[in-house]
Amino acid sequence: MKRESINKKTFKNLQECELFILDLDGTIYIGDELIYGAIDFVEHLKNLGKKFVYLTNNSSRASSDYVKILKSMGFSCEKENVFTSGMATGMYLIKRYPKKKVYLVGTEALKIELNSYGIEINNEDADVVVVGYDKELTYAKLLKATHFIRKGVPYIATHPDLVCPLPHGELAPDCGSICSLLEKSTSRQPDIIIGKPNPFMIKLLSNKLNINVDKICSIGDRLYTDILATKNSGAISILVLSGESTISMVDKSEFKPDFIYNSVYDLINIIS
Ligand SMILES: [Mg+2]
Repeated sequence: MKRESINKKTFKNLQECELFILDLDGTIYIGDELIYGAIDFVEHLKNLGKKFVYLTNNSSRASSDYVKILKSMGFSCEKENVFTSGMATGMYLIKRYPKKKVYLVGTEALKIELNSYGIEINNEDADVVVVGYDKELTYAKLLKATHFIRKGVPYIATHPDLVCPLPHGELAPDCGSICSLLEKSTSRQPDIIIGKPNPFMIKLLSNKLNINVDKICSIGDRLYTDILATKNSGAISILVLSGESTISMVDKSEFKPDFIYNSVYDLINIIS
């Protein structure tokens, strides 16, 4: 299956990309299973001297966890190759709310990640509330978050995903579902949602690595997160059909990816 150049982006634009952003689930693996050719594709990028970053909305794990997981699966991965919505939230907080105390509905791993940016997590006296994909959620946390959000403090969510895919087709309630619960108890939605489809993470990478968005290609399997974030950023988007999306979903979608391929394996022959 090949559908190329649906929009104005050309192969030349794609060849000239310096940074490739890779979604994880549905793009380079599904659950515990590798997508065929995904490791070879990353090695191909390395051999071409292209930069690559694995980008995920999942804020339940620290970036160091992803380095370990991706390495154990056989992928080339160092610290600079991982970017999570938790990291982006840390960068947003230090810029927008420096020295402010944060109440966190999140995992211990996210707490450590935010601490690494110098952010103080405080359970008693918060200036900002941050909600992530909290696999260690308790009623006590929801109670405190409701208290602070109702008081009117700035309220940030790491990402909007309602569910996270689990093995055997199961789904876990994700950050968006926790925010939906808090919306019922506070009548407030997050003031900002950091992860995809917000182009914020792609723009942060563009600034951090000093690579213009027109030299960035972002590859993912979801139209309404990966592709929409990329469109909103101005980067080149590639939809792979190895995960959630089908061609009929693309046909029905208001926005289209720049390029569509079956999987990242196809890209080994395309990007040279
Ligand atoms: Mg995905």
